[in-house]
Amino acid sequence: MLVFGGIQKTTLVDYPGEVACTLFLPKCNFRCPYCYNSKLVFNESTGVKIPESEVFEFLEERKGFLDGVCITGGEPTLHSELPNFCAKLKKFGLKVKLDTNGTNPEMLKKLVSKKLVDYIAMDIKADPENYDMVCHSPVNMDAINESIGIIRDSKLKYEFRTTVLPKFHTKESLLKIGGWLKGADFYALQQFSPAPEMIDQSLEEASKYAKEELESFAKALKPFFNRIEVRNV
Ligand code: SF4
Repeated sequence: MLVFGGIQKTTLVDYPGEVACTLFLPKCNFRCPYCYNSKLVFNESTGVKIPESEVFEFLEERKGFLDGVCITGGEPTLHSELPNFCAKLKKFGLKVKLDTNGTNPEMLKKLVSKKLVDYIAMDIKADPENYDMVCHSPVNMDAINESIGIIRDSKLKYEFRTTVLPKFHTKESLLKIGGWLKGADFYALQQFSPAPEMIDQSLEEASKYAKEELESFAKALKPFFNRIEVRNV
């Protein structure tokens, strides 16, 4: 049984086009410096422990109001019980969105083939040559590439997205991401925003790209994708 480290009871933005709640799972195999969920990542107490049974009590109360559930973290695919939980959500009549860092293609394959998710959002941390610089962890790029392929071929709704900081990304490196993901349906550039529980607190002072700069990157990347969006500006 899964135990969640947090819940957002209603969100209109996490699951595009749906009214949803968001559930947070602990643990992650990356250490992205800008990550604002450090307690979850390091599997420390968030002061919240929600067993599956409580999640379903809450969902029962919200029946007819919520369209779906977003499962985020941490990295949800580290939990072997995830497919079973998604199956219960589907049985409950809810759509399921999964946020992932793409390090577990085997889990993605299982979730997709068994139709246990409806929307997958995968973080693209950087261009392939600089991936480990951003996720601050050893990274298996074959696994990342396999996940990208599974998501693109899944016929599900999906998005690839990058949180953009001048420290880690330039226009050239973003264009490399464009070439890498060329032909994908949807890509989002997300503005970085410092948060109190970021993994690397020194980023509090880090510079950000201006809205206009992010929009100009999006314009340059437009030919690579069907849709592109700039977020959180
Ligand atoms: S941003 Fe995502 S992948 Fe990176 S450390 Fe946080 S939870 Fe893990």
